Amino acid sequence: MARGNERGGVERCTFCEKSRSEVQSLIAGPPGIYICNECVDICNSILREETRRVTQVAAETAPLLTEIPSPRAIVDHLQEYVYGQAEAKRVLAVAVHNHYKRLQAKQQIEEMGDPPAWSDVELEKSNVLLIGPTGSGKTLLARTLAKVLDVPFAIADATTLTEAGYVGEDVENILLKLLQACDYDLDRAQRGIIYVDEIDKISRTTQNVSITRDVSGEGVQQALLKILEGTSASVPPQGGRKHPEQSNIQFDTSGVLFVCGGTFAGIEEIIGRRIGGSMIGFGSEDEIKVKSAEARDRLLELVDPKDLIEYGLIPEFVGRLPVQVHLHELAVDDLVHILVEPKNALVRQFQAYFAMEGHELSFTEEALLEIAKKAHERETGVRALRSILEETLHDLLFNLPEYGQPARSFVITGEMIRTGSAKVLLEGGEEVHRESA
Ligand code: ADP
Repeated sequence: MARGNERGGVERCTFCEKSRSEVQSLIAGPPGIYICNECVDICNSILREETRRVTQVAAETAPLLTEIPSPRAIVDHLQEYVYGQAEAKRVLAVAVHNHYKRLQAKQQIEEMGDPPAWSDVELEKSNVLLIGPTGSGKTLLARTLAKVLDVPFAIADATTLTEAGYVGEDVENILLKLLQACDYDLDRAQRGIIYVDEIDKISRTTQNVSITRDVSGEGVQQALLKILEGTSASVPPQGGRKHPEQSNIQFDTSGVLFVCGGTFAGIEEIIGRRIGGSMIGFGSEDEIKVKSAEARDRLLELVDPKDLIEYGLIPEFVGRLPVQVHLHELAVDDLVHILVEPKNALVRQFQAYFAMEGHELSFTEEALLEIAKKAHERETGVRALRSILEETLHDLLFNLPEYGQPARSFVITGEMIRTGSAKVLLEGGEEVHRESA
């Protein structure tokens, strides 16, 4: 008797019973067991479909937030990219940790049959307000936070926003930016971080002469208020103005963390007036002269919601930014540290370009100080560091690929920075490439 699928001495597929001559190939298993190429294909597609279904279910039921780093871990991580601003880092870390804990708790309560005792305590959202001069690291902090937490991040400029019906950007477009930052993954976008810059420029007072819009800052604050406190917003998927016929994306902003930033120029005078003569060293109301950066810093540490309201933010808006942090103005010394310390410090970046060509680049301490001083003198402060380095190294970088071997060690000195070394480097030939060894 023929064994398995070898009826009449003909080998057949155990699954579909087709004979060897009817299929392209027949694979033999244990004695008498065969499978043809067609059945292998069918099995493969079944398996593929199964895998797709399982991963889809897993994605739908996967916890949105698994492990939330502790405030200390967040600070440690921020430390790698942002120099100084210790107090701001701590306050931000706590606010952000709690924000994501709150989201996680909400999710857990929904999943739990038997909610824990704390579940009836309503955890409110704590958006953050960063007050500090231009270039003190406000945007960098917000961006780095998003990186630490692996959540999408978007930046919006408050001065381009407008209340509905006016020329300008609708506030919903901010949410669109967040959606675009994560390829329209709504779940991820709904727990992202948005940094709203220049928030002080939408104050309702007229003290800020830079407002050239046709709408009041107050209207924009009202419009922002809704998305800040958590609402279901209709976002036009293509951006632009909302259109009645367009099918919009419903975006729930209750899980989005808003970090607002502004310089609040002049607010120190409001703070000074409020505290009046009660603060040692600031004298009476008339005597308050806030001139030095240090004095401004000391006053800003005392900022209170009342001062923000007097500055021109509406009380409801201030209420939605319960965490207020002050960032210090960066001094020359800070700029030296920023040049070399952060993980992606500018000096490290340029050294990497030299290393790629097999050469070495270094800076004397004096050179670093000169760069920092030069940047500090420019209005753009810390942002000028890169341009100064670019200017200094431009010609050297231009010629770098042609230097070839042996490996050279280029040392940038203070004098090169002072005298505009780019020119010297180009014209000076060997003398310029002061080799350290
Ligand atoms: P702000 O938003 O306060 O105006 P940014 O965060 O945009 O300032 O800072 C501008 C640039 O300066 C950043 O990209 C970063 O390279 C650098 N920078 C500013 N502050 C710091 C800091 N504290 N540590 C490291 N780099 C900084």
